[in-house]
Amino acid sequence: MATKYIFFTGGVVSSVGKGVTAAALGRLLKERGFSVAVQKLDPYINVDPGTMSPYQHGEVYVLDDGTETDLDLGHYERFIDTNMNRVCNVTTGQVYAEIIAKERRGDFLGGTIQVIPHITNEIKRRIGLVAKTTGAEIVLVEVGGTVGDIESLPFLEAIRQMRSDTGRENTISIHVTWLPHIGATNELKTKPTQHSVRELRSIGISPDMIVARSDQPMDDDLSAKIALFCDVERQAVVPMATCDVLYEVPLLLERAGVGDYVLKRLGLEARRQPDWSEWQRLVEEVRRPKPIVKIALVGKYIELHDAYMSVRESLHHAALSNGVEADISWVPSSELEKGRSWDAVQNADGILVPGGFGSRGTEGKIQAARYAREHKIPYLGLCLGMQLMVVEFSRNVLGHEDANSTEFDPSTSCPVIDLMPDQRSISDMGGTMRLGLYPCELQPGTHAAEAYPQPLVQERHRHRFELNNTYREVLQARGMRFSGISPDGRLVEIAELTDHPFMLGTQFHPEFLSRPNRPHPLFVAFLKAVKKQKYPDNL
Ligand code: GLN
Repeated sequence: MATKYIFFTGGVVSSVGKGVTAAALGRLLKERGFSVAVQKLDPYINVDPGTMSPYQHGEVYVLDDGTETDLDLGHYERFIDTNMNRVCNVTTGQVYAEIIAKERRGDFLGGTIQVIPHITNEIKRRIGLVAKTTGAEIVLVEVGGTVGDIESLPFLEAIRQMRSDTGRENTISIHVTWLPHIGATNELKTKPTQHSVRELRSIGISPDMIVARSDQPMDDDLSAKIALFCDVERQAVVPMATCDVLYEVPLLLERAGVGDYVLKRLGLEARRQPDWSEWQRLVEEVRRPKPIVKIALVGKYIELHDAYMSVRESLHHAALSNGVEADISWVPSSELEKGRSWDAVQNADGILVPGGFGSRGTEGKIQAARYAREHKIPYLGLCLGMQLMVVEFSRNVLGHEDANSTEFDPSTSCPVIDLMPDQRSISDMGGTMRLGLYPCELQPGTHAAEAYPQPLVQERHRHRFELNNTYREVLQARGMRFSGISPDGRLVEIAELTDHPFMLGTQFHPEFLSRPNRPHPLFVAFLKAVKKQKYPDNL
């Protein structure tokens, strides 16, 4: 069968859940027996989000192959449970870098390079690569930003062209918009949606379906009005009020008949009946009142929860599987340094220190790790959170006051965390870290080995610094054990404390592999330790 394409554009405002909608529709199609992949087209000029501040862009999500991507890829993988690859996130920066490199090589000798056709051709080539590299039969393509942005025009033009290139019956276009609510009259307004559809039409794209997001539920009259003014079929207007349970979105789309409608428009027939029993159980379990455990998430970019999207989701997945609810306190580590926000740490049943870069707030994280160690509070450290757990231990247990990572103090006399020799000569910042899947061998008799069902695991990485092997022996002598090691023995992947209910740090990022129905083993073990301590009789 010819590859089918579903294009997603956004109207009115951004951040209304276009990524979640695309991810959820992907699941509907997978449930009908099709192989799907999702691609995000990001109009910014950075080559990837790896060099961007999480304040700008939220979390940087990492794929198996080490690609640093937009956080929407996290939604795709969590909802569809299929791993994406390098071609699934395209930016304007990548497209121009490719074309300019070709121009310098002389590939276009004599020609003038223009947005149409050179840039648009390159965008189309990259869209085509998704099916080629993943084998997907249906490719969902989400264009970042909203219609009307200058930056997204070449992407929109490319998807417009794809419609005739691949045949109209092989593509459909879905526009995700926002209906503002007017408090004074208590009504939802469709006018901005009408305008954004007009804008989309002016560049040659007619939406086949409109997903109308709103905070309040919308009535049938309004759907009919949108259908009329925007010239889509009545059943192709999908009202999507904000729902409290993220993982209910596929069920809502299913109930609205979106899966069947999309297949019909693409000329396809479902290969099997969707089975939603697992998702229904999941949503019911989220709604069921459960005992609460408080988790202090001590980070640097706390004001923006999106910066820790996968960590937050992984905590919720693992809490569910333990039959508890994780109540996350977002603790800014730099506040801890000033003696503030400590009550959140002191009241916590578990402490989690996520990944991070740069020195701001690291001392606060070290203090949080010390608190967890001394008060025997379960602790999970992710990447930087593991490195700082080792720094804390070296300072306060080994007595090396000056211990640090050379990332923060290049001249420390006790560099327990340091660059690997092969990283020293690298001067570029973009894409030069240790990225993607690497194997880790678990050491028997440890928390880590007990948590995972198998002795050799593959986990996703994104870091430059490593535990300095010259300190392994002294750390071990005082009660730290290295429960995960690279198979060649060179790199410590997991460190944990022997004399503690659960204090464990990973050099990798387990949060990128947690799925709602398949919580990550280490998060499950962390929450289990938290639950055991808080509700000792309840096990
Ligand atoms: N900054 C640290 C490093 O580069 C940790 C990175 C991270 O937490 N992802 O090794």
